[in-house]
Amino acid sequence: MVEDKPMLLPPDCDNRTDRTADAAAGRGAAQQPSGHAYRALKTLSAGNHVLLHSSDEQQLLDRMCKVIVEEGGYPLAWVGYAENDERRSIRPVAHAGVGVGLVDALRLTWADEGIGRGPTGTAVRTGEPVIARNLHGDPDLVDARNLLVERGLPDYASAAVFPLRVDGQVLGNLSIYADEPDAFDEAEVRLLRELAEDLAFGIASHRTRVRHEAAERTIEHMAFHDAVTGLPNRLRLREVLEAAIVRSRDTHRPLALLVLKVEHFQEITDSLGYREGEHLLIEIAARLAPLVRDGELLARGAEDEFVLLLAGGGANEAIEAAKRLIGGLNESIELCGLMVNARVSIGIALCPGHGSDPDSLLRRASVAAMEARRSAAGYAFYVGSLDQDHTRRLALMGDLRRAIADNELQLYCQPKVCIATRKLCGAEALVRWPHPRLGMIATGEFVRLAEHAGLISPLTHWVLDAAFSQAYAWHDAGCRQPLAVNLSAHDLRDPLLFDHIKGLFATWGLPARAIQFELTESALMEDPGGAQQTLARLKQLGVELYIDDFGTGYSSLSYLRHLPVDAIKIDQSFVASMIASDDSAIIVRSTIELGHNLDLRVIAEGVENARIWDRLAVLGCDVAQGYYVSPPLPAARLRDWKQSSPWR
Ligand code: C2E
Ligand code: CA
Ligand code: CA
Repeated sequence: MVEDKPMLLPPDCDNRTDRTADAAAGRGAAQQPSGHAYRALKTLSAGNHVLLHSSDEQQLLDRMCKVIVEEGGYPLAWVGYAENDERRSIRPVAHAGVGVGLVDALRLTWADEGIGRGPTGTAVRTGEPVIARNLHGDPDLVDARNLLVERGLPDYASAAVFPLRVDGQVLGNLSIYADEPDAFDEAEVRLLRELAEDLAFGIASHRTRVRHEAAERTIEHMAFHDAVTGLPNRLRLREVLEAAIVRSRDTHRPLALLVLKVEHFQEITDSLGYREGEHLLIEIAARLAPLVRDGELLARGAEDEFVLLLAGGGANEAIEAAKRLIGGLNESIELCGLMVNARVSIGIALCPGHGSDPDSLLRRASVAAMEARRSAAGYAFYVGSLDQDHTRRLALMGDLRRAIADNELQLYCQPKVCIATRKLCGAEALVRWPHPRLGMIATGEFVRLAEHAGLISPLTHWVLDAAFSQAYAWHDAGCRQPLAVNLSAHDLRDPLLFDHIKGLFATWGLPARAIQFELTESALMEDPGGAQQTLARLKQLGVELYIDDFGTGYSSLSYLRHLPVDAIKIDQSFVASMIASDDSAIIVRSTIELGHNLDLRVIAEGVENARIWDRLAVLGCDVAQGYYVSPPLPAARLRDWKQSSPWR
């Protein structure tokens, strides 16, 4: 394969011709095709077959070169692709015939210099066929030819190089060689040119097919995968779940479905924005994905929900998987510069025990996930009776969201009285929800509902706004008693809580003593380290902090000692029963002693009658709160109450 100086085809050779022997020969119908045209014609028809029967691009190229050599009898054929690299190299991609080993070694280019001006480079650069009929006779090529012949390349006498054009662009070349000089007459060239065009068309078709297939795969991927996390979506999950249920039935093996609800998702998107919410989901998915084992499927079930399908797994396997996934989310995730705990509550439903159709399994695992929020383990199995309860709760959640937004809640408060002086010394803010249809909803119920529905931040923010406004009104009127606001476990993780409170102090210009915070012992124990940090920040504001419902949260003395709190409130269940139950009486007495030993004030809640009051007075309890003093009343009425009550 000697690269000689190019000779561009005369324009009359440019026209495509019919595939007939006559046209191929370029003569009248009565004449026979020349030997040259005849071999080209054979090649063309064999090439047609290749075109129709090749399954991919490389096979097409390989087979095309092969038929040119085997059917056409040409000694060498090869195809190169033009690269757009710096050298403008021509990369051989297929070849057949004698001397193929040297094609690679030639390092051809299509640059307009040196070897690039040979037939191959010229054909690629100009997009026109280049025919060299007398490689031997070109004095300029003697040295180059000798060099190649020395390296073992047969001494071809003629070459025809055709550009491969796809969509108007030259993709590469088809080069065909002949042993004899003066090969590739006009008729032969026409036919071979047609062959090259067919080849280019075949390449384009394969590429289009590949692109279509890729597009189809993308479309299918999009239909069955979640765009945010890349995990299979609910649609795909359902498909797989349906098949798994059938298999489970056939093989008599159980199946477990785990629904992972992301904690505080709503709060995070509400406070930090939608994108941070997505970022959280992506991070969680990235941490969960490596924990998924063969045969398990992790999918995105809903906005704040992942689902793990455990085909062939029962209760034990489900617990093992739940622990594995919870363990994978130990480290906090950074969002907007804040470290957020990525926690999930996992609900488990088993097939066939809890259901044997996709919908009920998914629904029941979701219900169980709600319950899991209350459990220390972080996971819970579906329990039959929850379902009906759940329906009511779902309806209420929607109502609650609206009630908060529409300002339908009311601020109540309950007085606290100093036992020694019998004087009002503060009040606790208690929220009320008069439901337009259902009447007053029990506060405990809807606060828990808010915790489940990710509504605790909006609720707390509402109460804070109302409490600051009320405290300001009291201070303005000369009533100086502090107002205590309850914070939930979820609030302790609300990244915006602290700034909100600071902003309210600035807005109303209230002194720190005007507002206090009550945090239940169990809320503190949910995340002792995190709670300590939040309390420390609140304490920086100068406010008093109370541990609420003390005695129900199993905190250790050493932990308590390190918390920046000012007082403890003995849970009303002990106080209300301290007359009737010796156990309760002992707990109340020892809690008072414990508190005082730690230099904390002690408040008893649930003081329902004078006997309890008297007993607490003897035990040295500092403050009492309960029906004996007053039930909770609308906050705005506290001043009137104070005027007319003995507890001034
Ligand atoms: P808590 O903080 O322990 O509030 C005291 C609860 O005991 C109040 O119930 C109050 O009405 C009730 N109570 C008061 N005196 C007596 C008494 O002498 N005997 C008995 N048996 N009960 C008495 P409420 O208002 O229904 O609140 C229930 C719980 O809901 C509260 O318990 C608190 O944990 C939560 N909660 C109430 N308001 C809020 C709020 O604004 N934010 C948050 N995060 N939680 C709140
Ligand atoms: Ca409280
Ligand atoms: Ca309490």
